[in-house]
Amino acid sequence: MSNQLSTVITGIGELATNDPERAEQGGLLGLVHDAAVVVEGSRVAWVGPAAEAPDADVQVDAGGRAVVPGFVDSHSHLVFAGDRSAEFEARMTGQPYTAGGIRTTVARTRAATDEQLTSHVARLVAEMRAQGTTSIEIKSGYGLSVHDEARSLAVARQFTEDTTFLGAHVVPAETTPEDYVDLVTGPMLAAAAPHARWIDVFCEDGAFDVDQARTILAAGSDSGLRGRLHANQLTYGGGVQLACELGLVAVDHCTYLSDADVSALAASGTIATLLPGVEFSTRQPYPDARGLLDAGVRVALASDCNPGSCFTSSMALCIALAVREMRMSPTEALHAATAMGAAALERDDVGVIAPGKVADLVLLEAPSYVHLAYRPGVPLVAGVWQAGRPVVGPWG
Ligand SMILES: [Zn+2]
Repeated sequence: MSNQLSTVITGIGELATNDPERAEQGGLLGLVHDAAVVVEGSRVAWVGPAAEAPDADVQVDAGGRAVVPGFVDSHSHLVFAGDRSAEFEARMTGQPYTAGGIRTTVARTRAATDEQLTSHVARLVAEMRAQGTTSIEIKSGYGLSVHDEARSLAVARQFTEDTTFLGAHVVPAETTPEDYVDLVTGPMLAAAAPHARWIDVFCEDGAFDVDQARTILAAGSDSGLRGRLHANQLTYGGGVQLACELGLVAVDHCTYLSDADVSALAASGTIATLLPGVEFSTRQPYPDARGLLDAGVRVALASDCNPGSCFTSSMALCIALAVREMRMSPTEALHAATAMGAAALERDDVGVIAPGKVADLVLLEAPSYVHLAYRPGVPLVAGVWQAGRPVVGPWG
């Protein structure tokens, strides 16, 4: 036996485990009713019916409420400074969203100190945690200079291992696209790579085309970074098929897809990460999640929390939007926001509640996970354990 303190959480009315070994009885979410979970140190030690739970050093009672895995938000842009609420108001009164709005945040981010950027990210990460998000990916992309991209990633690294170099977010005002791609694939990549696990490109009209994206992803791969892609958000284009051709783990947005794009996603296994908060916040049409799932595409949900196109940090909102606006079932939406988010980050230790996995659990003020979609906008997160530590709620 380990000498780490163990806690048994009993009285769980409905437990969503995402454990494939429980799929036969518990469906996609591996549901267990009247369940208990034993946490030992940072890991889950035991899962099963409460009546069979082993003893532990500490016992807490969930009071019949539901417990789900911590949300895995696989797409966020938290390192920035400045406020763009005026731009949001303008958009809500008729101006369209374009990729160029990113440049307004770049100027503010460059002017901020490291301490200002760090405290801003810390505030957003705490906001996410309070809403049940226990794993996050954070991108750079508002520095767009060698120095500012590297320091953005160094800031992000204080909060997660899943940091993504997004120097290719938009071409900054002071240079040309050709020179900028050379910078991104040269000195900027060299400065960024030590702080990053992933490399990403905003492949879109007004940002980077497919050939540029291919060049940038190849350079990143040569530096040991795994690729991911923003594609087909605002227009049809070749980004999704590039992601599938390259075998990327995930391609994000996927709003404007041709039949050939959907077929390529289904055949490649590349995860389509849908970001419905963006469509909500820009009044764009939602991606066809139902069509993707019915075609056999693997679908994840993430927030895309960023100051321009979508400034929500709420995965529960994304779940509600996925159910209401994209015709996902509540089961599919929760799975996409947890297990599939983990898969989109190539993580097999989070997004699932099973022995040996990281003990990231969310206690809901509800008898069922369905309430995440059934009660949109209601703060249902009553407690959060992150790596076995109670960080939010009655035991935190
Ligand atoms: Zn994004």
